[in-house]
Amino acid sequence: MGVVAARAQGQPYARGVTSRYDLDRAGLGALLEGHPRYRVDQVWEGLYAQGREPEEITNLPLALRTELAERLPTALTEVVRRVGDGGETVKWAWSVDGGHHIETVLLHYPKRSTVCISTQAGCAMACDFCATGQAGFARHLTAGEIVEQVVRARRESGERRLSNVVFMGMGEPLANYDATWTAVERLHGGLGLGARSLTISTVGIVPGIRRLATEDLPVNLAVSLHAANDELRDTMVPINKRYPLAELEDACAEWQASHNRRLSFEWAMIADTNDRPADADELAAIARRQRAHVNLIPLNPTPGFGTRGSSPAAVEAFRRRLDEAGVAVTVRQNRGVDIDAACGQLAGASAVAIEPRPAPAAAERRQG
Ligand code: SAH
Repeated sequence: MGVVAARAQGQPYARGVTSRYDLDRAGLGALLEGHPRYRVDQVWEGLYAQGREPEEITNLPLALRTELAERLPTALTEVVRRVGDGGETVKWAWSVDGGHHIETVLLHYPKRSTVCISTQAGCAMACDFCATGQAGFARHLTAGEIVEQVVRARRESGERRLSNVVFMGMGEPLANYDATWTAVERLHGGLGLGARSLTISTVGIVPGIRRLATEDLPVNLAVSLHAANDELRDTMVPINKRYPLAELEDACAEWQASHNRRLSFEWAMIADTNDRPADADELAAIARRQRAHVNLIPLNPTPGFGTRGSSPAAVEAFRRRLDEAGVAVTVRQNRGVDIDAACGQLAGASAVAIEPRPAPAAAERRQG
């Protein structure tokens, strides 16, 4: 044992270490060879269901607790922890393998607590209104690095039971499909979170959406649409050139047919770009065809994107126009702005060791 399954599939993970949440039950079984079989269940329960440190799994012999702590190191080292919104939002920047930084955000609401997790250090999708996209791609996270974010947030959440997980932090989950899906299975089977309380958000990676349609667990799907015609979407979301709207719609329809789940569309509201009445009408047409719920996200400021977000009045007018067209629509509450933890603001702290995006992609973006 020792090699993370995803690495064996040739993905560019930097880590050669098996971290605490990289192992499934079979992997733990191999690690605990020579110990009685029931130890595997005890370790699994302790690490996943109870979210304990090995030292705290007191039904294990002391020597085994010490051995586990050494052989299964944590993946995430806290670099910065910031608390905002009067204690209701917590953001962490973690360093993974001593270099790259990733971020996790815990959001408390009156009736639930949600954690927003990262799937990659950086992002290769290059959406220019998003701070992660501006920083470029560093590497994929392993399933263990994804799962550990949830375990750490759940510990922090304590009495306010962590109920929901959204894959909306740094990175594009469906560009790191295997690790993302392994994490989903681990959150479901290990931490006991219901598939319906897990939401994967994608920029619109069509093969990934089609693959999601074949999976057993009915997680929620959010598609970051932002524009409902190809000409505009090409400029906002560069991957649209590879997977244009007609193909995206087909894949979404296939996903809905397979799971009978509600799809949602995300729409970051940018002044005079995608907030005009004509934009609302185009969006309403797609949302009605797909029977999708629309989430409007007032644009959060990022360092590398000068264009303003839509005014509150423009957001409300847009919302009303969708509502009148029979579309289910919500304006997303702006959370975490005071600690740079809002949608699109996750840039991996200031000392990020992220490689610059390759020149051709940047050039393409400017032309678009
Ligand atoms: N790559 C995935 C998940 C990460 S982004 C995706 O694209 O869906 C999570 C959400 O925040 C997406 O809907 C994204 O478009 C949105 N977002 C990015 N930058 C933003 C900004 N500056 N203001 C508001 N929302 C933003």
